[in-house]
Amino acid sequence: MSEELRENLRRVIEAGYQLSADGFEYMSGLDAGSLRKVVDDAIHTANISRAEITILDQQFLESIQEKAQQKTTTEGIQASTMKPCVRPIAADYDAQISILDDHPYESSGDLDGFIEYFRSRFKKISGILRKRIDMRDVVTIGSTLKMPLKSKAKVIGIVTRKRPSSSRLFLDIEDDEDAITVLASDQETVRKGLSILVDQVICVDAVKYKQDLLIANDFIWPDIPMQPPRRSEEPVCAALLADVHVGSVHFREDLFTRFISWLRGGIGNSRHRKLASRVKYLVIAGDLVDGIGIYPNQLDELEIPSIREQYEEAARMLAEVPDHVEIIILPGNHDAVRNSLPQPPIGREYAENLHDDARTRFLVNPCRLQLNGVEVYISHGKALDEILSQVPGMDFQHPIRGMELLLRCRHVAPTYGSSTPIAPAREDRLVIESPPDIFQMGHIHVHGRKKYKGTTLISSGSWQEQTPFQKRVNLVPSVGIAPIVDLQTHRVEELDFKSEDLVLSL
Ligand code: FE
Ligand code: ZN
Repeated sequence: MSEELRENLRRVIEAGYQLSADGFEYMSGLDAGSLRKVVDDAIHTANISRAEITILDQQFLESIQEKAQQKTTTEGIQASTMKPCVRPIAADYDAQISILDDHPYESSGDLDGFIEYFRSRFKKISGILRKRIDMRDVVTIGSTLKMPLKSKAKVIGIVTRKRPSSSRLFLDIEDDEDAITVLASDQETVRKGLSILVDQVICVDAVKYKQDLLIANDFIWPDIPMQPPRRSEEPVCAALLADVHVGSVHFREDLFTRFISWLRGGIGNSRHRKLASRVKYLVIAGDLVDGIGIYPNQLDELEIPSIREQYEEAARMLAEVPDHVEIIILPGNHDAVRNSLPQPPIGREYAENLHDDARTRFLVNPCRLQLNGVEVYISHGKALDEILSQVPGMDFQHPIRGMELLLRCRHVAPTYGSSTPIAPAREDRLVIESPPDIFQMGHIHVHGRKKYKGTTLISSGSWQEQTPFQKRVNLVPSVGIAPIVDLQTHRVEELDFKSEDLVLSL
């Protein structure tokens, strides 16, 4: 037996495969050069194949060599390592995307708009609250005002003011008609009350103490019910990314390119390659590019100081995403759209090449959609800034906790007039109207995930190294981590593209 043959046999066995007698015979007949190539391709193909291949026989090896020959003749000297060798699993399934929320996002632009906007918010969220079984005895603030003192009452209102004073907490709430003040005085109720956000809709379980003052026994969030998630019937996955920041000097192009090579089946062990071949959707939840003039002196930190060129560069990289993968892009606060929510999709005028790519869809931020029957709610997550800095117990290193709070509020940006601008509109489109199966946000640049009731929460990290600003505020970003959600099982696999073997160690 020649040295090459022995060496290649060893490689087959080390990769976990057996060789049939005719397979061995076939290998013995190959010259050293093609032997190595055939074994490489065979191991790779077997690794990512849908069928469980354990034995490599003559027929299999022959088909591998034929494919390799066809490829070299059709592609010439093109970089063949970037091309997937076999048909990926996800290529056998058509994309099933339905956008559940794509009404117009026009602003009404006047004060009436805001009155209507808050009415719409109150109506939608109190409707969600009233569906809970513990809400049968809810009354309006008006009827509470007419009740005798010491009556028990459950009321729903928008929080217009929040005043902590020593160990107590006052909340002013109002509904369509009336207003009342709520006092929380026992420790547990105060603690709960402190995480209530101004302008959010909440239910108070209380006792009437004075004509216009209630003592809170408990606060009830609209929340989401415990329910099993919908599942895809097809074995497909979604890669949930955000904050790529193309154009920034801190953009880690190397890691992002590695991610795309992985999508193409080019890197990773057999399990990771198989996972790549099941990815049908690539979501980018805002901040695809770093933008221009987003913060003072940003120019010093830009590699590409033109927003169109930043999108062009992004298009150039995303063009390498395999054809069967659908790309879904939402805007973030660094993208070339208005800042106030809801943000319209990134327009063709800034991102022509991306718009020309038929696989790419530009959606509104926030957006509710279904991927293979699984309901996904995606939002860039700008309002996390306020929540993580203001709510006791929250911090920027754990954005997932802020996401859970938003889901319990059933709103992606509860507080009006803070650093997250909201566009005046007749309808509040920022209400999370139905409980999603997957809830994704980016923006903070810190990776995290959690199951909350039946929902998978994903906070996507970034593809940008720590910026001087983040350094000043002590924020350590999670760079180059891709969470991959299996839409059939709701399992999440986190791949770390900084690590040689893609394994994330936390
Ligand atoms: Fe960002
Ligand atoms: Zn952002």
